[in-house]
Amino acid sequence: MYDPLLDNTIPADQRAPTSLWAEDQAQPSYPQLTQDINIDVAIIGGGFTGLSAAFHLVEQYGVNVALFEANQPGWGCSGRNGGFVLPGTGRLSVAQMHKRWGEETTAGIYAENLASVDTVKAFIDAGIVCDVQAGGYLKLAHTQRKTEQLHQQARVFSDTYNDKIIPLSQAQVAAEYIASTEQYGGIYHPNAFGVNPWKLAHGLAKRAAVSGARIFGNTPVLNTEFSNGKHLIYTPNGNVEANQLILATNAYGPNKLHASLYNRNFPVMSSILVTQPLTKEQLDKLQVRDGLMVMDTRSLKYYYRILADGRLLFGGRGAIAGRNADSVKSKQNLLNGLKMTFPELGNVKIGQFWSGWVNISMDDYPRIYHDKATATSYSAGYCGAGLAFSIQAGKRLAQQLYEPETLPKLPYFQTPLKKYPVAPMRRTVLHTLYWWEGLKRVVGLD
Ligand SMILES: Cc1cc2nc3c(=O)[nH]c(=O)nc-3n(C[C@H](O)[C@H](O)[C@H](O)COP(=O)(O)OP(=O)(O)OC[C@H]3O[C@@H](n4cnc5c(N)ncnc54)[C@H](O)[C@@H]3O)c2cc1C
Repeated sequence: MYDPLLDNTIPADQRAPTSLWAEDQAQPSYPQLTQDINIDVAIIGGGFTGLSAAFHLVEQYGVNVALFEANQPGWGCSGRNGGFVLPGTGRLSVAQMHKRWGEETTAGIYAENLASVDTVKAFIDAGIVCDVQAGGYLKLAHTQRKTEQLHQQARVFSDTYNDKIIPLSQAQVAAEYIASTEQYGGIYHPNAFGVNPWKLAHGLAKRAAVSGARIFGNTPVLNTEFSNGKHLIYTPNGNVEANQLILATNAYGPNKLHASLYNRNFPVMSSILVTQPLTKEQLDKLQVRDGLMVMDTRSLKYYYRILADGRLLFGGRGAIAGRNADSVKSKQNLLNGLKMTFPELGNVKIGQFWSGWVNISMDDYPRIYHDKATATSYSAGYCGAGLAFSIQAGKRLAQQLYEPETLPKLPYFQTPLKKYPVAPMRRTVLHTLYWWEGLKRVVGLD
């Protein structure tokens, strides 16, 4: 698999990722750029961030926009994720945010997280068909101590931020949500829902194109320059001159693509297994509430949901380097996690296995940043929780360019992504972390 830390260019003109989501779907074919053009805003990257930015720039500000995607929209993370539409992004708990930024800012971030789910809902209400599965989200503790922490969080969510989070005991989880063998209590977010993310990405691309954004597929950006207040953007068969540049490449941008993101991203692989449709007997054993999406509290988390046709989608960490994405070992590691979580499924048959890159930011929260001096913006670093947030971020990127004074005063908008101090060591550190977490699991310290 393409590896953004090692490869200097992204592969182009690839088919949709081999996920369940794109199976049996028509392949989109946005045309390649084949001439030189002049525009106001150039967007690199056709995932949720870039597509939402393109849509909002045209719809709300009437801007002349073109988006350049190396493959077809949704080819990156956006078309191959788990489809959990959740409030929240990054890896900081509310308590950590509180400590870092105080009460008012934490409340603002919380409101932004809730707004991101509303933004996705608004697109769906306006006609994007993406197989919505209502059912809510259960965060499931894997120790008693974690149950207590989750319940404490739920109290803060409800009392301070007026969000309806339901604390659940182990008995309630087992009786009403999932008959899991290894878990404790948890908290339930009723407003979260599942989607087919590939269909959502294509619905967004269509909305942006119908609004008037020009979308180019099979158009990898090879290089950019900024000179005399203009961006020059080079692609294989046509070059672009633009006043503003938005980098919406997130984990998929080659590390050296643009100076403003160099060594500020950490692409980490997440993988997904999907089983064949479970039998009635298997489903009866698991007793998962309809449409429920689940994630545990381990530092290397597992996440899962039962799809409408009875398949179990199960995700977790993937390989470290792109070349090992599809290795037998990588698939087996995830299968072991599935079997540990659901021993009652025995030798369940696997249908699909695929992987994608998420972007871990140095300080565990993303940035939606505009640098006036170089007329360059980006949004990145969602740490694996970016479906809803990236669509909100696209809206904010547009607003940041044309109505910056109306942005909420939140830390995302104020500073650039931090640089990794010893960038070449990123993968060595990750390797050690995986080894340590694996050891903790084996000796029961997890
Ligand atoms: C397996 C997996 C499961 C996940 N599950 C969930 C989930 O259930 N819920 C959730 O909230 N989040 C989830 N995520 C994270 C979520 O998918 C991402 O945060 C989100 O899709 C990021 O969108 P994006 O537009 O920023 O990036 P992307 O969708 O990755 O888009 C970036 C695009 O830029 C393009 N690109 C890069 N370089 C160039 C170039 N030089 N020229 C042209 N184009 C270029 C790429 O081809 C790519 O399409 C998951 C991620 C993975 C990998």
